[in-house]
Amino acid sequence: MQNIADDIIKELLLKGNYVTADDVKAAEAAKEKTHVGVLDWFLAEGLVTKDLVGQAMAESFKAPYADLNSSQPTAEQIAKIPEEVATKYRVVWFTESKKGVTVATDNPVQEQLEAELKKIFGTSKVTVAYALPEDIESTLIHYRQKLSTRFTEIIKTSKRVAPELIDAIIDDAVAFRCSDIHFEPQGADVEVRFRIDGVLHEAGRIPKENYDNVLNRVKVQAHLRIDDHFSAQDGAIRYTNKQNQVLDFRVSILPTLSGEKIVMRVLSQYVQGFALTDVGLSAPDQELFFKAAKKPFGMILVTGPTGSGKTTTLYALLKTLNRPEVNITTIEDPVEYHIPGINQIQINTQTNLTFAKGLRSIARQDPDIILVGEIRDSETAEIAVNAALTGHLLLSTFHANDAATAVPRLLDMGIEPFLLASTLEVVIAQRLVRKICENCRHAIIVSPSELEKSVPGAAHYFPKKSLTLYAGKGCANCGGTGFKGRTAIFEFIVMTPEMQELLLHHPSTNQIWDLASSQGAKSMFEDGVEKVKNGLSTLEELARVAAPPDAKHRS
Ligand SMILES: [Zn+2]
Repeated sequence: MQNIADDIIKELLLKGNYVTADDVKAAEAAKEKTHVGVLDWFLAEGLVTKDLVGQAMAESFKAPYADLNSSQPTAEQIAKIPEEVATKYRVVWFTESKKGVTVATDNPVQEQLEAELKKIFGTSKVTVAYALPEDIESTLIHYRQKLSTRFTEIIKTSKRVAPELIDAIIDDAVAFRCSDIHFEPQGADVEVRFRIDGVLHEAGRIPKENYDNVLNRVKVQAHLRIDDHFSAQDGAIRYTNKQNQVLDFRVSILPTLSGEKIVMRVLSQYVQGFALTDVGLSAPDQELFFKAAKKPFGMILVTGPTGSGKTTTLYALLKTLNRPEVNITTIEDPVEYHIPGINQIQINTQTNLTFAKGLRSIARQDPDIILVGEIRDSETAEIAVNAALTGHLLLSTFHANDAATAVPRLLDMGIEPFLLASTLEVVIAQRLVRKICENCRHAIIVSPSELEKSVPGAAHYFPKKSLTLYAGKGCANCGGTGFKGRTAIFEFIVMTPEMQELLLHHPSTNQIWDLASSQGAKSMFEDGVEKVKNGLSTLEELARVAAPPDAKHRS
């Protein structure tokens, strides 16, 4: 949570006895080490909630608290305050009753605010409530002009076209909580697309003649070669926006037939609390996870394609294991989130600090728990297994489509079957599905034949009768998509004695999954079906990322 000064929040929370002086000391020590803000640390540690911070801040202004998250104004209501006033005073329409109008701002003490509100609302009574900066920010989104409109203006009027285009793009990307920005050359234009909640949306188009300057500027800031147009290049940019937020981007440039394509991944912006329940683990799966993680040594692997939330799951687990007496070291590429109290090491190919080399040195420093960003090659796999064998708990991600595929792939990398059998504790596979927008969620009645028609093979996993499922209608809160936020679906393969025995005989993927499911393992699709029944997501959305097991060809 940005924009609330550490000193203010410390004093406020201490005064209200929400935190102790020791908590503050711990937060400051963590800040020194990891640059995580004091408030973010309190939130991550679960010492305070967002609502509580909002209420405490409101109290300090002697204003009511406006929870814009649970009661969001519609686009028409928001439009009741003109844009210039809204953005100048950071004030938005909140509610209206017989008693008058309530507006919300993150700064209730502004001289001209009252006069401006009087101009807008006339004689009716106006209450000024306090809302958190990030909630004001996400409500002000409604006033935003389309990026294409702003592009046209910048190109027409600005003397610094490329920097201003980039500023406008990054500004929107942050406002919409986008995870990746794509620049895709296509004919005479370059399409700018945002990945939001896992799905790409078109954001705007830049004419080719302006793109060259944008591309050069990105390359310069990412310390890449501007004269090289034919090789893949990777770099990083640290960017400070007008609100003084520091943002880190991983930049990748790839030559295509129509020009150089840029992908910028936002790294440090959306640090969350990382609670295992937030991640989407069901209660029985959490228990399995904890049981494996409680052992002093062994290996826990999370598999899935890029962008399936593997790292978030491992961080959530690390957070539950993170205690002062436990030494945790990670080696990552890149370090995506800074966690207080954990030693995090960044891979650096230029200095030859690879996963394998780093892991070897870490193991010598004797940590209790090691997180390896990814097992990519047989050398890393071998050192990882050895570390797990010699008294370390090792967590890592691995590129495989599902949990059962991971085992034969590790064996193919040359790991001895008996070593793998005695170190592997659990293999998890996961995907992310978009959650139905809570603001416009509505029930729909679906018959078994309709189910089967929309996703072949799915009806088998639902009761054979008409069902109440859910979908989002589309509203201002979800940009008309009907979805907001994401959750994960999981499958777990646990190393039982039978599974260990099977491993010794170089089993196929099918043999592994057959044994696991006979021992009660649920596939990702089945875990997702539970989430569809509970109204968290839709069947079509689930089918987009995971197929029903019968329809899936496991080879
Ligand atoms: Zn909605």
